[in-house]
Amino acid sequence: MIKSCELCGIEKPAIKRPKTGQGICKPCFFSAIENEVHETIISSNLFHPGEKIAIGASGGKDSTVLIHLLDLLNKRHNYGIELHLLSIDEGIVGYRDDSLVTVKRNQEVYQLPLTIVSYSELFGWTMDQIVKKIGLNNNCTYCGVFRRQALDRGARMIGAEKIATGHNADDIAETVLMNLLRGDHFRLGKSTDIVTGEEGDMPRCKPLKYLYEKEIVLYAHYQNLDYFSTECVYSPNAYRGYAREFLKDLERIRPRAILDIIHSGEMLSVSAPAPAKMTCERCGNVSSNKICKACTLLETLSKP
Ligand code: SF4
Ligand code: ZN
Ligand code: ZN
Repeated sequence: MIKSCELCGIEKPAIKRPKTGQGICKPCFFSAIENEVHETIISSNLFHPGEKIAIGASGGKDSTVLIHLLDLLNKRHNYGIELHLLSIDEGIVGYRDDSLVTVKRNQEVYQLPLTIVSYSELFGWTMDQIVKKIGLNNNCTYCGVFRRQALDRGARMIGAEKIATGHNADDIAETVLMNLLRGDHFRLGKSTDIVTGEEGDMPRCKPLKYLYEKEIVLYAHYQNLDYFSTECVYSPNAYRGYAREFLKDLERIRPRAILDIIHSGEMLSVSAPAPAKMTCERCGNVSSNKICKACTLLETLSKP
């Protein structure tokens, strides 16, 4: 006899939930994911009526599910927030140009405004040009620093109060592990914060903080969402890669490991002073030094 869904007891189970191992039907899976994200938003007081939220939209599975869920939950629960898609064009031919086509298709589907800001217009360099100059080495350091500032500047440009990003539970557990392995106490203390950057001028929040990557993939698949799944052509962060593999091994043995690492991070009270915030003397953006990281990296690029 076929067992019925472990949640509703009526439908045939279609999915074994990666997070809990429960055999459940598709409608119950959708409700579980949507209710969990709504619960995260409400319990952490992420949004306030009237706020404009810039959704970091890359065309990948996480940000596509984030757009879908924020649009759905905003309508279903009347959050009263205004959503605006914000994409960063790093200038990587064969990767970002293709993924931006996906974002544009989603903009049509959800009928949301979209702003694209590019590294070339903000910094005068595309990632392709940077890699030509420095070689296939340290690329993600440049890209990460520029993306952080590009998102802040793009969000300010569109008048948003906050940025929502598609970071999932796996990303956050990986970050806890990486900061622990690096002995980065200040970052370790912040790595599980659902809202960050309040001390700067553009807070960021992570509504998918407790969603497993595998569940995001399943949700996107069964909802027929349109997303782009090709990997970046440049060297991924090797250290993060090891942390990711380790986490996947742990998850195979014990699926709860991801949540447990996040909870451990949440329980840590790290007494490391926050770096002081000031304004970069060169570009006027928020910085923890006289010259911000983006300007420091731009200086290295301008050297012959
Ligand atoms: Fe940028 Fe590295 Fe991500 Fe590629 S993998 S988009 S270079 S941060
Ligand atoms: Zn069910
Ligand atoms: Zn600067």
